[in-house]
Amino acid sequence: MSKVAIIGAGLAGSLLSIYLAKRGIKVDVYEARGDMRLEKVAAGRSINLALSDRGIAALREVGMDEYMLAEAVPMYGRMIHSPAGETKLLPYSGRQGEFINSVSRAGLNIALMNEAEKYGGVNFHFSQRCSAFDCERGIATFSSGISVSADTVIATDGAGSAVRLAMEAQVAGYNSTTVFLDHGYKELHIPPAADGGFRLERNALHIWPRHQFMMIALPNFDGSFTCTLFLDKGGNPNGSESVQDEMSTTGSTSPTGRVSAFDRLIDSQSVKEFFDREFPDAVPLMPTLVEDFFENPTGNLGTLKCWPWNIGGKALLLGDSAHAVVPFYGQGMNCAFEDVRVLAGLIDEQHGKTLDWEQIFRTYGELRKINSDAIADMAEENFYEMRDRVADPVFQRKRELETRLEQNFPDYFSKYSMVTFREDLPYSVAKEKGNAQDALLMRICAGVQRVDELDLHEVMAEVIAK
Ligand SMILES: Cc1cc2nc3c(=O)[nH]c(=O)nc-3n(C[C@H](O)[C@H](O)[C@H](O)COP(=O)(O)OP(=O)(O)OC[C@H]3O[C@@H](n4cnc5c(N)ncnc54)[C@H](O)[C@@H]3O)c2cc1C
Repeated sequence: MSKVAIIGAGLAGSLLSIYLAKRGIKVDVYEARGDMRLEKVAAGRSINLALSDRGIAALREVGMDEYMLAEAVPMYGRMIHSPAGETKLLPYSGRQGEFINSVSRAGLNIALMNEAEKYGGVNFHFSQRCSAFDCERGIATFSSGISVSADTVIATDGAGSAVRLAMEAQVAGYNSTTVFLDHGYKELHIPPAADGGFRLERNALHIWPRHQFMMIALPNFDGSFTCTLFLDKGGNPNGSESVQDEMSTTGSTSPTGRVSAFDRLIDSQSVKEFFDREFPDAVPLMPTLVEDFFENPTGNLGTLKCWPWNIGGKALLLGDSAHAVVPFYGQGMNCAFEDVRVLAGLIDEQHGKTLDWEQIFRTYGELRKINSDAIADMAEENFYEMRDRVADPVFQRKRELETRLEQNFPDYFSKYSMVTFREDLPYSVAKEKGNAQDALLMRICAGVQRVDELDLHEVMAEVIAK
C-alpha cells in the first residue's frame, strides 16, 4: 500500500486526503495548528469564501458538493453601492443556475476533515509545524522534533510553505517570486438583524468601489456579512517590489478626492471619519466597526509564482504553496481543489501499477502551471476591475450586454463565466478567449449610450468572427 505524508490540513490538504484515501493510499496529515474542531478559529482571515463550479466539481467527485451547498448562501451578482448609497445589481450571468456560493472557510475545512476521517487510512496529526524539509532524502522535520518520511510528501501548507522555502534554499537555481500589492485587507463585520435576517440583500456579493480602494461583503449562513476592506497599506514611499499602477504609492485617492491608507487610520476618529465619508450606507450596519478595525489584523495580498513544483518523486507543492493568488476572482481555493482533481486523475492513469510519483508530478506540473499562471494574472486584473471599473458606465454597459448575450445565445460565455462556471475549460483558455472578447465588447459599448441601441445578432456575429 502506498503511503503519503501531507503537510497542511487546510482546504487543499484535507480534500486531497479524501481523494487519496479513496484510492487506497494511506495518508498522514500534519497540521501546524491545533484541531479547529476543538479550538476557536482566529478571526480576521477570510471567514467566508466564494465557492464556484471548479471547486464544486472537485467536491462532487467525493460526494461532498450537495452537503456543502446546503450550507452556502447563493450570490447571483455584484451589488454595487455608490458613495451616495444607491445600489445596482450586476448579475454574474445571464443564464439560469449560474451563480457563486458564499461558504464558511472553517465549516468547509471541518466537513472535509470529518469526511477524511471516515476512511480508515487517514490520520491527522495536529500541532505539528513542519520546520524543515530535506530535499535530498525527502524527510520532513517538525517543530515537535519528529521526522517523517513516506513514499512521497505533498505540501499543502499554504503561501508561506515550509517545504517551498526548503526548495528555495536547497535546489540550485530554484525559481520563486512573490509580488505583493500595495494594498492590504482587513475583515469587518455586519451582524444579523434583530430578527435574525440579513441587513443587506442576502443573495449578492456587495461591493463599495471607490477607485483606489474598495470594500466588499459576503453573506454568511447565520444572517451576518463578512466585509473586507482593501486599502493601500501606506508607508511605501518607493513602491519597490510592488505592483505598480496608477495608485499613489503613499496612499489612495477616492472619488471624494481624499487620500487614505491603513497607516493613516490610527484612532477611532480617523476610522469613523473615513467610513462615514466613503461608506455612509454601510456604517449604520456595523455597530462594532471601530473595535473590529483595531482587533482584526491587516493581511497582505500577494501573487506567488515558483518552479519547479516537485523534487523528483519525493515532494510536490499543491494549492497556495505552489501558486497563491490575490483573491479578486474568488478562485484560490477553487483552483487548489481543481489541482487535487487533476492530480487524482493522473494517479488513476497508473491504476494497478506501482505508482511512479515522479512521472505523476512531472505531468501534473506541465498540466497545471500554465493554468495557475493564467488565473494569477486574471485575479490581479480583476482587482482593478472591481475597484475601478465596476463604477465606469462603459464597463456597466458591457456587463449588461454580456448578460443579454448570455440570455439569448447559449454558446456565449463572458470571461467571468468561463472562469467561474466552466470547469471543463482550462483557466488559460478562459484568459485568452476572455481578454479578446472583453476588448471587443468594451469597444462596442464605448460607441453607444445604451445597450438597447445594439443589435445583439450583429454583436454576436462580431464575437464569433473575432
Ligand atoms: C482575504 C481572502 C479571501 C479569499 N477569498 C477566496 C474566495 O472567495 N474563493 C476562493 O476560491 N479562494 C479565496 N481565497 C483564497 C483561498 O483562501 C486559498 O486559495 C486557499 O485557502 C488555499 O488552500 P490551501 O489549502 O492551499 O492553503 P491554506 O488554506 O492556507 O492552508 C494551509 C494549511 O497549512 C497549515 N500550515 C501552514 N504552515 C505549515 C507548516 N509549516 N507545517 C504544517 N502545517 C502548516 C496551515 O495552518 C493551514 O491549515 C481568499 C484568500 C484570502 C486571503
